[in-house]
Order: sequence, then structure tokens, then C-alpha cells
Amino acid sequence: MEKFYYSVSIPVPVRKDFTYSSDEKIQAGSRVKVLFNKREVVGVVCRQTPKPAFKTTKIEKLLDEKPTFDALALKTLNWVSDFYIYSRGEVFSNFLPPKLRKDFYYESPEIKFNEYEVNDDDKRFSLTSHQQRAFKFLNKLDGFDPCVFHGVTSSGKTEVYMRLVEEALKKGGSCLLLIPEISLTPQLEQRFKKRFGENIGTYHSKKTSKERFETWKKSKSGELRVLIGTRSSLFVPLQKLSLIIIDEEHDASFKQQEGLKFSAKDVAIKMAQDRKIPIILASATPSLKMLHLVDKGKYKFFSIPKRVNDKNPPKFSILNSHFLDRKSGIDTNLLSLIDKTISKDKKVLIFINRRGYSPVFKCTDCNWTAMCNSCNSRLVYHKDSARLRCHRCDTSFGVPHSCPECESTKLTSEGVGTQKIESFLNEEFPSVPMVRLDLDSTRKKGSLERLLSEISDTKKAFLIGTQMIAKGHDFSDVELGIVIDADLGLVSHEVNAVEKLSQLLIQVTGRVGRSGKSKIIVQSNLLDNEYLNILSSGDYLEFSKHLLKEYEAANLPPFSSLAILRASSPNKTSNVNFLNKARKYLEKETNCECIGPLPDIISKIRGNFRHSLLLKAKTLPTLHKNTKNLVEGYIEKQKRLKVRWSVDFNPIDYQ
Ligand code: ADP
Ligand code: ZN
Ligand code: ZN
Repeated sequence: MEKFYYSVSIPVPVRKDFTYSSDEKIQAGSRVKVLFNKREVVGVVCRQTPKPAFKTTKIEKLLDEKPTFDALALKTLNWVSDFYIYSRGEVFSNFLPPKLRKDFYYESPEIKFNEYEVNDDDKRFSLTSHQQRAFKFLNKLDGFDPCVFHGVTSSGKTEVYMRLVEEALKKGGSCLLLIPEISLTPQLEQRFKKRFGENIGTYHSKKTSKERFETWKKSKSGELRVLIGTRSSLFVPLQKLSLIIIDEEHDASFKQQEGLKFSAKDVAIKMAQDRKIPIILASATPSLKMLHLVDKGKYKFFSIPKRVNDKNPPKFSILNSHFLDRKSGIDTNLLSLIDKTISKDKKVLIFINRRGYSPVFKCTDCNWTAMCNSCNSRLVYHKDSARLRCHRCDTSFGVPHSCPECESTKLTSEGVGTQKIESFLNEEFPSVPMVRLDLDSTRKKGSLERLLSEISDTKKAFLIGTQMIAKGHDFSDVELGIVIDADLGLVSHEVNAVEKLSQLLIQVTGRVGRSGKSKIIVQSNLLDNEYLNILSSGDYLEFSKHLLKEYEAANLPPFSSLAILRASSPNKTSNVNFLNKARKYLEKETNCECIGPLPDIISKIRGNFRHSLLLKAKTLPTLHKNTKNLVEGYIEKQKRLKVRWSVDFNPIDYQ
């Protein structure tokens, strides 16, 4: 009998495929069960190969009736593996729904292309002239044609997306709407269902494995042709994908921070290029990187400068606030303003970039501070669960009654988080409805929807939250917004911290005030950046021009490219040795600038020390080439490595 040979990618952390044989003809992109180190694993056939010189093992079983990944998906996935210098098998596994990572036979569903009916009643209003022009412009994009779509908050961008989706469906295509966070799905899903009926898919990590598989199957059959999803939804097999829209393009959560450190935005752009389809990168606060590409003439640009209702977002003012005049973080001068707003039956939004009750728990006698056992990280006091929690490894500890160092019982918590503000306002305004949105309050499935519905019908209320509250929600009747400790952004360890902070401030103003009377107050004791005056007028694009000039002068991204080579192990010296050798190799062989090795800001997580080497080059291709040389010429040649290593291209922060 004729025998066939295949390269199979297996989800193990080596950048290598393995050759297996079979009597069957198998198409690339199909899942197969194979024996690997005496273990049964699910791999993906990536291509047929000639008969090798060595003896091969037989593929145990073909698991797909039709390939799980088609040729176009494979093309993009191969790029992901190459670009991020990451095992191809692990890349495949990263994008498979959990069910398909398991060993079972998958019979492809019948194609039953769904025709969508548009509910015209839902289009009760006509587009504003700005929206109309945006629609015309974006609808003309053809082939691979990336376009940055700027529109101030509430300029009606979502309405424009829906019209574009309608056109794409009419022409027989499918659409992927990528969103940064799960928390944005409920509202968007509702709006799309109202317009296009029930066949709107949603896909993200809070969906059960069964739900995700259902969405995968329905997309493959063509029953679902509109998908709203987070970064894990990129390779859901939509039929005839013809349009990708990225909402809130600037958002950091498009970047996966663990494992395969990919940017869903970059992968989506590559995907659009491979498929020769338009991609729209939308935001009220586009990232400097995208604006830079627009400046260079590489990407198109369209902007809606006005809100739908013609009222512009409120300006913000900076309140130079000292810690002395604060009650639970809120400047005492603001209390009467809060009171006034609430008595007018309006909502107050309070933003703080920290969850928990207090970030520090300490002994007032000897200054002992509660730290995590396995991370170099302070424990955060959580009053609602009466625990001390590590925000790095998520371990929680009981609250001690006396100091473990000096046995004093004078223990206290310091600093402010969302819970502290919540309990303070609860005491001051006991009868006012209150919603707290942070990672802790929204952990359970459905809790976000429940919290949002609690305040949808009330007039006066407090909305307290972390970034989660700044993102895309449509709150009614918010007349006062307060940003507590905006400086937390400026002194943070993010790459491009000022860019991030300015985006956040503009996004907060977007959640507030359709009445024209609303105010945003930014409490701060550090901010006196001359450009903040430009930003406080709400003109993000003008602000970004200044910031781009600054970044150019400082040679920061997007005017240079960064990558972090990180080492992690229980032994500090092993990390430093490994990184020093990497640095030597880079300096000898290549033309890359190296900074470090340095201990990370959180220098220990889950018992492992972390150190990194920052790599910098003028362009991304140069940086990539050098890094790949390092990995292939040095790291992968080491026999026994004492450290775990990873590369992070275009890192979000230096941590
Ligand atoms: P964005 O996505 O830019 O924040 P949305 O599309 O959510 O803006 O629009 C903001 C609000 O304005 C929504 O409540 C929406 O229903 C409404 N809206 C959008 N377009 C129009 C229009 N042409 N006329 C009246 N209201 C509109
Ligand atoms: Zn003590
Ligand atoms: Zn920890």
C-alpha cells in the first residue's frame, strides 16, 4: 500500500514539527491523534513531506472530516509562529476552541449559508452627515486597505459599523468585530441582535467550552456570519470573511500577556492582508502607532469630530489635590459637588485605577508590610471578603490579628482602592444606589450584566470602578466624573505611559455627560504637563501630534521598536548569566541596542525570579531579525537551560 508522510505540529514548547506516516491522504490543517513521547496528543498536519530517511510512527487517527484550519488560516497562523518565534503546535492550540484541543472526531457541519434580514424599524434615525460620509468612505475600502476610523465618543461609530456589516452581508460576506474586553459584549450584542436578528455570534473566554464550540460550528457552516469576539476569536472559521472591524483599537487588552504574547491587532491586520480584505481600526483615542502609520501614508484615515447630539464631551479640569484634604481618597472640596449632583437626581462616576480596599496592609509600630509568600508584591486588603490578596498570583491569605514581626496589634491599611471608596460613599450617602465595577465584582458569569441592569433604570447613582468603567459603556445621566490619582498612570511602568493616560482620561470623559452641563475633575498632585491643557479641551488628535513629536525626539515607539527577552527561574544568578550571554551574543553578531539585564519591577512571581533584557532597534524588521538570530543561533543551541525564557515584541509594559 502507498504510504504518505506528514509534518505534524504538536502543542509542545519546541519550534519543530514531527514527521508521521499514514495510509490515508490527509489535508493540511487537519487534526490528528499521534503518539508523542509515549503520550497520545492532538496535533495538526501542516504539510505533506517526502519519505524521510528515518523510521516514522504512524498517525493513530485522523480527527477531522474536513481540515479545521483552511489554507488561508494556515497562512496567517504560520506567520504568527514565525513572527512571535513560538512553537507552531502551541500557536494552533492557542486558537482552537478547548473542545477541539481534545481527541474526538469532528464531522464538519453542512454548509447552510444564512441570509440575514435587517430590521428596518431599528434604523429609526437617519445618519448624521458625518456618519454618512464615514459610511461612504469606509464602504469604498477594497482589498487589503487598513483604515483608522477616529470618532469622538458617542459620535455614532457603532451605528456606522452596523451599516457596513449590513452591506458586507448583502454582498455575501461575513464580518468579524473584534473588541478588547468581555465587558463590552452584552451591550453590543443586544444592538446587533436588534438589527440583524438572533444569529449574532459572541466568542470569548467566559463562554463555556460547549458554547465556544457551538459558535465555531455555526461559523463554519455559514449560519453565523457576524461574530463579536475578543482576541481568542480571531480564527473562528467564518465563511467568506470580508470585513474586520477592531473597536477600541488603542486598548491594551488586545495584547495577550501570558504564553503566546501576540497582539490580536497585528494578527488581524496580517489576516486582512492574507485575505485581501479591508480592516477598520476604530477608536476615540487611536494609538500613536496607528496615527504614525497614517502620517506615513500607509493607512487611510477618517474622523468624526462631533457627538451625534452635537454636544461635545465635557472638558476636564485638574484639581491639584493634597493627600491631607482627602477622605477615603476623595478631595473634601468635592464632597459638596457630589452632594449637589446627587440631589439633582444625576449620576456620579468615580474612576480609580486600583481594585480592593487598600493597597497596603501594615504594622504602625514596626512598619512591617504584608507581602505575598511567593511574589515580590504587596498584599492588597479586600474588605468584602476579609482577606489579603496577591494581585499577581491571586493567592489570598487571612488577615492577621497581630504583627508577625513585633506582635503589636496596631495593624492598619493604607491607601485607596475601589472598595474603600464604595464603603465611604455608602456611609455618606446611604440611600443612593451604587455599582462597583472591577475584576472582583464581575468575576462571576453574568454579574456584569446584572450590575449594569441595576442602574439602568435609576436616575441618581454612584458608579465606581477601574478601567473597566472607562470602556465603551453607555451610561445615562452621568453629570460628574471624578478621576482619583491620575498620577498612578504617569509613574507606572508602562511603555508609552503618557499615551495610555491621555487615552484613559478622554475615555472617561466619554462616559460622562450628554446634558451639556457635566464636569470631569481629575484629582492629581503631579500633573502639570504643558500638553495637558490641550488634552483637557478634549482634542485628542491635537494632543497626539504633540506627543508624537516628543516620542520622536526621545526615539520611543512608534519611532523605534522594542522587545523584551525575559528569564525566569528560582535562581537569580541563572537569570543574570543567561541574559548576559544573550547580550554578548547580540553585541557580537548583530546591531541591536541592549539595556540590562535588570530585575523586573515585580522581581518575583510564584516563587520565580524575573529578569529581563530590553532590546531596541530602529525598525521592527531589524529587531525581529536580530532576535530570531539570537534564539536560533544561541538560545536554542543550549543543551540544558536553567531558566525559562520568553520574548515579548512591542511590550505593553516593562514589568
Ligand atoms: P460610538 O460608538 O461612537 O460611541 P454610538 O454608535 O454608540 O457611538 O452612538 C451613540 C448614541 O447615539 C447611541 O445611543 C446611538 O443609538 C445614537 N445614535 C447613533 N447614530 C445616531 C443618529 N444618526 N441619530 C440619532 N441617534 C444616533
Ligand atoms: Zn510590627
Ligand atoms: Zn503572589
